[in-house]
Amino acid sequence: MDVIGHFVDGKPFSGSSGRHGDVFDPATGRRTARVELASAADVAVAVEAAGRAARLWRDVSLARRTAVLFAFRELVHARRDQLAEVITAEHGKVLADAAGEVQRGLEIIEYACGIPSALRGGFSENVSTEVDSYTMRQPLGVVAVISPFNFPAMVPLWFLPIAVGCGNAVVLKPSEKDPGAALLLARWFAEAGLPDGVLNVVNGDAEAVDALLEHPGVKAVSFVGSTPVARYVHQRGAAAGKRVQALGGAKNHMVVLPDADLDLAADAAVNAGFGSAGERCMAISVLVAVEPVADALVARIAERMRRLRTGDGRRGCDMGPLVTAAHAARVRSYVEAGVAAGAVPVVDGRNVEPDGDPNGDPNGFWLGPTLFDHVTPDMSIYTDEIFGPVLGVVRVGSYDEAVELVNANPFGNGTAIFTNDGGAARRYQHEVEVGMVGVNVPIPVPMAYYSFGGWKASLFGDLHAHGEDGVRFFTRGKVVTSRWPDPRHGGVNLGFPTQT
Ligand code: NAD
Repeated sequence: MDVIGHFVDGKPFSGSSGRHGDVFDPATGRRTARVELASAADVAVAVEAAGRAARLWRDVSLARRTAVLFAFRELVHARRDQLAEVITAEHGKVLADAAGEVQRGLEIIEYACGIPSALRGGFSENVSTEVDSYTMRQPLGVVAVISPFNFPAMVPLWFLPIAVGCGNAVVLKPSEKDPGAALLLARWFAEAGLPDGVLNVVNGDAEAVDALLEHPGVKAVSFVGSTPVARYVHQRGAAAGKRVQALGGAKNHMVVLPDADLDLAADAAVNAGFGSAGERCMAISVLVAVEPVADALVARIAERMRRLRTGDGRRGCDMGPLVTAAHAARVRSYVEAGVAAGAVPVVDGRNVEPDGDPNGDPNGFWLGPTLFDHVTPDMSIYTDEIFGPVLGVVRVGSYDEAVELVNANPFGNGTAIFTNDGGAARRYQHEVEVGMVGVNVPIPVPMAYYSFGGWKASLFGDLHAHGEDGVRFFTRGKVVTSRWPDPRHGGVNLGFPTQT
């Protein structure tokens, strides 16, 4: 059985904790590897290596830093299929979806190749007589990135290229459920010319996270995961004096107005509800049908769902398994709770045949696409983030009722409206209290040069991920006021400086 270790100071590193986690192939249920779970002492080794590297890397020219990023981009691009295969083997999402994740990650690397423009400061000549002022953005030092299981390559790539491009050193703690992609990225970064210690990967669980939050050498933490852990990381990291952005969970609503193109809306609901088996923070999990549209919409969605093939992501299926047996059991328990609460299971995924074949591997972590109609806001399938292939339809009487429902929800990650009425769409984008909004676009993930982040319980902190916010997060601003020696001299003056 393979044992997956850490990657510290440019080479594989085996820790001293003696604790391990299991990595599974979710389509077969087989354990494929064991992963080391770092102790605080292991984390300290990585932070110290990063600290030494950060002191040198911050003085490496922008030209040389971006040359590494360009080389890294070429390596990831050339090996994107290999990366996608590792993602599918450990996470379970179908290969095409894994390839899509890699593509979105590549776009962040490409954005970071232009980091010199993003780091440009301002300059004002003669702010006072013969005095100039200018700004610069400088790296923070060592930053920690803690990522979730559901995007094992893309979420680390939201942060790594920008953090490194800005001159920081990173300790990445990927999800212990699927650590393979992060380790590949670290090795390829090193191959692209990144000096030893600038990017380190420590595998682990809550113990490693706590060690990163407490270590005085870590100046900032970028976290992505569930809301309870995001809230905890934000509070504990901030209390330890660190800059923290902590992106949390979601319950994303798609509102369908009566004038919408129902075939477009049904396609979108199926794609956004069941892609990656619903294990996306931007998945649509609630469909808000504004009457009288619900019956026709539910029928169209159910018809499409019955054609979906759930199975091994390497065999051309539409939807893969869930990530672990425990997660599959949890999602299944929500389906049971939905039935018990009186929601109507229009399509029930509990008896799915993997690969559409009665002889498909029964040991995979399977649950087929599930659709509930007549969901009400008091049911647990509405209130909780399920993070599985379960879509609930809430029927409302008007646009106003729809907006009220979305805005009353504690989460605010993504939302979409489907309509042909430009005025209604414009009003929705203005009124809705959600960070990322799609108009006839079900998964409105911003491009690399915009920033990704939700509102309310979906993000703790001020700055979103990547784009301009990413550059601001990984740097701090400095303003210089300068006067070069001049024969004329103002003499001693203890008054507060003002313009002259
Ligand atoms: P998770 O919160 O269980 O784990 C995230 C990270 O935190 C992992 O690295 C994990 O090892 C660590 N962790 C887990 N429990 C911890 C604890 N008690 N103390 C300290 N660290 C802990 O999340 P997950 O199950 O890996 O990922 C799914 C969640 O992530 C969903 O809620 C999803 O919505 C969210 N997510 C959000 C975004 C976003 O951008 N808002 C993006 C992707 C995923």
